[in-house]
Amino acid sequence: MGLVSHRVEMRHLKAGDHIYSYRSAFLYSHHGIYKGEGQVIHFTSSSSSSVHRREVCSACEMLEHSERSSGVIVSCVECFLKSGSLRRYKYGVKKKSYFMKRRGTCNTAEPGPVEVVLERAESLLAQNGFGDYHVLQNNCEDFATYCKTGQGCSRNGTARRYGQASVLPLGLASRR
Ligand SMILES: [Zn+2]
Repeated sequence: MGLVSHRVEMRHLKAGDHIYSYRSAFLYSHHGIYKGEGQVIHFTSSSSSSVHRREVCSACEMLEHSERSSGVIVSCVECFLKSGSLRRYKYGVKKKSYFMKRRGTCNTAEPGPVEVVLERAESLLAQNGFGDYHVLQNNCEDFATYCKTGQGCSRNGTARRYGQASVLPLGLASRR
């Protein structure tokens, strides 16, 4: 496995995995929590940016909460990936190697138990409860990281630059 390759095949995915799709054309990654049965819960913006535009396939139309144009949604893995490659985010990496890796691909935090990860993702999905998408402070990576760890990206220090942006500590309760 190379330094930044976290590629994974769909058949190896497990419920509760934090997955992301890396779209080299955009130097951009999109993150979500694998729910099982080919479905992903993820956080999207309503921005007109083409990388976020929603195209719902017939499989996704069957899913509850897939119709939202922004916020926490569920979709099939294919719609989540679009044409990007499927990768698995890494947790519990050593600080030293964390700094060598591409930002937005791993985290030094330890993930919570699978049931808790899925419960967080499901309840945020049910309530569309992750606030407004903000590319700098509240994005899809924060969402997935929060589901995995119960913390925002910046738990290991003050605001730090991540894959997409510098993020501030997250707290669902303290959200405006
Ligand atoms: Zn779909």
